[in-house]
Amino acid sequence: MKFDTIIVGAGVIGASTAYYLQKYSPKQKILLIDKFSKIAAGNTSRSAALYRNLFSSKSSLVLSTSSIGFYETIASEIGLKNLGYLWMFSQNDWKKSQKGLQKLNDQSDTFDILSPNEFSKNLQLNFNSSDDFPEIHQAIYGHRCGSLSAINLAKYYSKQFEALGGRIALEKSIQKLSLSEEERHFPSWSDVKLLSITDQNGDVFAATNFLFATGAWTNDLLAPVGIASQIYPQKRQMYTLKLDPIQIVSNPKESTPIFILPIGGVYVKPVLQNGIIMVGCANELGNPYQMKNFPPDADQEYFEFAIKPVLQHYFPKLKELKIFSKWAGYYAYY
Ligand SMILES: Cc1cc2nc3c(=O)[nH]c(=O)nc-3n(C[C@H](O)[C@H](O)[C@H](O)COP(=O)(O)OP(=O)(O)OC[C@H]3O[C@@H](n4cnc5c(N)ncnc54)[C@H](O)[C@@H]3O)c2cc1C
Repeated sequence: MKFDTIIVGAGVIGASTAYYLQKYSPKQKILLIDKFSKIAAGNTSRSAALYRNLFSSKSSLVLSTSSIGFYETIASEIGLKNLGYLWMFSQNDWKKSQKGLQKLNDQSDTFDILSPNEFSKNLQLNFNSSDDFPEIHQAIYGHRCGSLSAINLAKYYSKQFEALGGRIALEKSIQKLSLSEEERHFPSWSDVKLLSITDQNGDVFAATNFLFATGAWTNDLLAPVGIASQIYPQKRQMYTLKLDPIQIVSNPKESTPIFILPIGGVYVKPVLQNGIIMVGCANELGNPYQMKNFPPDADQEYFEFAIKPVLQHYFPKLKELKIFSKWAGYYAYY
């Protein structure tokens, strides 16, 4: 089978790429491939799916703002909730962030800088420091931020792609990449090209162009043929906690934003109407860049040691904390 372009990986990135490529090159014969039996069954299905347009990098800002503009036009199909984003800082981190904040200034209509008394009304926060945890000094509130269903977004793109004539092949796990000049040991003066890819059943797919939207698996797939993607997987874990909303807010009927606490990158997505919060955390040093199995398990101990103390410091009413559900996946780090 010969295509103009084959996209390997039908997560949110591969599906959106397929859609836009087909839209702007309607005559191209494009194939979207994935090893799983469903669209978005990789890390897209593991995501907390929070979105924001608060970035100090100009390109991230342009990309996120235009993406959010598009998401808002299909809000009901992708379960978009414009919750807002409250990003809390200690005094020290606030000082360190001033350069980045200045770059945010030209989008000042999309965010506000708030002092504690401006956002303390509903959240039951402890603003003070203790030995390990800094005080809450300031916060940025992003207006065009929230959550959506990443799976529905990827499905939306893949359906639109198919409606434009694109083809999708699932349960095709690409095992081998075949290059030209193989029998001549890739002489450096010749233009070596990727000719085809082969799946687990030995079926061969050829194309003029290949795009790898394989996220956390990219290095494993491309390193054997000498392509340095510099993309590495790192495990990330999420926990859902059942609680009484008044442990978090004084008035559960008011809308509560997504928030990031001032230490450890601990972030919280409130789903208080269901008596739930979802919590995640960013850690790097000590967490290996490797994928053992997929999907990985979320560890109870990680929650106990790295997340729970932060939550209990900043929300003193959270005495008992029970995990209702947990899951994990891999970030793809560049
Ligand atoms: C716990 C967790 C929380 C997160 N929270 C957020 C968040 O709040 N906001 C946010 O923006 N991002 C978040 N992310 C990150 C987000 O999930 C990813 O950035 C996004 O899903 C990446 O999409 P992708 O299409 O690149 O990857 P994936 O969805 O992983 O897609 C890659 C696809 O490639 C396929 N593939 C790989 N190898 C092969 C092969 N050999 N043959 C065929 N197919 C192959 C896989 O099956 C997979 O479907 C989170 C991630 C995790 C793990």
